[in-house]
Amino acid sequence: METWQKLLQESITRPGDLTRRFGVDPRPLKEVAERYPMRVNPYYLSLIKSVGDPIWKQAVPAEEELHDSVCMDDPLDEENQSPVSNLVHRYPDRVLFLVCSECAMYCRFCTRKRKVGGESMVIDRQTLKAGITYIRSRPEIRDVILSGGDPLLLGDERLEWILKELRAIAHVEIIRIGTRVPVVLPQRITLALVRILRRYHPLYINTHFNHPDEITETSAKACGRLADVGIPLGNQTVLMRGVNDDPAVMKRLMQKLLAIRVKPYYIYQADMVQGTNHFRTSVEEGIEIVRALRGHTSGLGVPAYVIDAPGGGGKIPLLPDYLQSLGEQVVLKNYQGNIYTYANPAPALDEEKRSAVNGCL
Ligand SMILES: *Cc1c(COP(=O)(O)O)cnc(C)c1O
Ligand code: SF4
Repeated sequence: METWQKLLQESITRPGDLTRRFGVDPRPLKEVAERYPMRVNPYYLSLIKSVGDPIWKQAVPAEEELHDSVCMDDPLDEENQSPVSNLVHRYPDRVLFLVCSECAMYCRFCTRKRKVGGESMVIDRQTLKAGITYIRSRPEIRDVILSGGDPLLLGDERLEWILKELRAIAHVEIIRIGTRVPVVLPQRITLALVRILRRYHPLYINTHFNHPDEITETSAKACGRLADVGIPLGNQTVLMRGVNDDPAVMKRLMQKLLAIRVKPYYIYQADMVQGTNHFRTSVEEGIEIVRALRGHTSGLGVPAYVIDAPGGGGKIPLLPDYLQSLGEQVVLKNYQGNIYTYANPAPALDEEKRSAVNGCL
């Protein structure tokens, strides 16, 4: 079997390379790939069944990327919430620590499209040390999320150094890794890698499957290896036009994830990222997708649907209208649309708080 490093080296990085294989005209795509880097490794490329399919759309540059007048470079205001470079401290008890600027594929819809794979994203031993020092100096940080780029594109040694430094900090209770490697380059999940990871528990991994066709024998094996060493696996999906904006596709994805021991965690409404406007769906469509999951398939397979608020407000969950009214009687709608009532005991809340909750309906 080819090593992951070799597969990465054999990636397609120029639109011209698509011509021989797919017969498409690369000229309009050249400018796109100059602005936002392209990298499609042979494994992910092999999942494409036809031009324009959901795998293609995620990997291959599109002209629309240059004609986006709606979205923003940094909609989540990450740069302004970074006390040191490449570390986002938005929530009270946890931080997002960007430890690698590279990815195994450059997803066309990426939230950090402004910087991943480009020269502006500099991560070296200096910036990593500054991040670790910041975490060490803040006892309130009990959860560190390694992200990027893709942390699993680091070499084993560099990755282990980061994990070891973080584990030496007493107040860091859990470490999470956000990675798309099990999806786009599952060959990277080597036995040597899992032998390292298993030493740094409690360690969680959130991966990023967006379409049922991404679940293959190879990606299932990679997830199995991680699960076998006791790493709980979650999945974050981005809702995207033409990729997974269909309740049947999403349901199949969630069911297949459970079958490879990955628990669906979030469905994200697409962020307002410059160059990705063509992927965005309406929020109504997202709510209908969640409605088509809850009750209709295993509750384990129903992730939270969230909008990561523009301006850095964090993730805000959205639910269909199951709670119809809240008072002495709670009026509820089930997944089939039938109405039920629940007699509500007098609240421990005072009246003021109760009306505040009601005001949210
Ligand atoms: C998503 C995110 C987190 C983690 O959020 P959870 O809801 O705890 O998974 C933390 N920090 C930042 C900046 C994030 O964007
Ligand atoms: S792997 Fe993640 S960080 Fe990298 S391009 Fe894809 S979405 Fe962006």
